[in-house]
Amino acid sequence: MERRENVEQEYCLICERPVEEGLRILASLLCRECEQELLKLSVSDPRYNLYVDKLKDVIASACQAAN
Ligand SMILES: [Zn+2]
Repeated sequence: MERRENVEQEYCLICERPVEEGLRILASLLCRECEQELLKLSVSDPRYNLYVDKLKDVIASACQAAN
């Protein structure tokens, strides 16, 4: 018997890889790897801004949806 997956595949907010289980931020998902990366990043790291920008986008779109 074929197992049907009704769950929509979700992708990581940062790396855009498929995520099975991760950190949910509003309507988006952060994979475990990126979550760990984010925690390790220092503010002086160039990637830090990339992460923060992505998160801002998520929050901004969620705010628009709420209006
Ligand atoms: Zn990721």
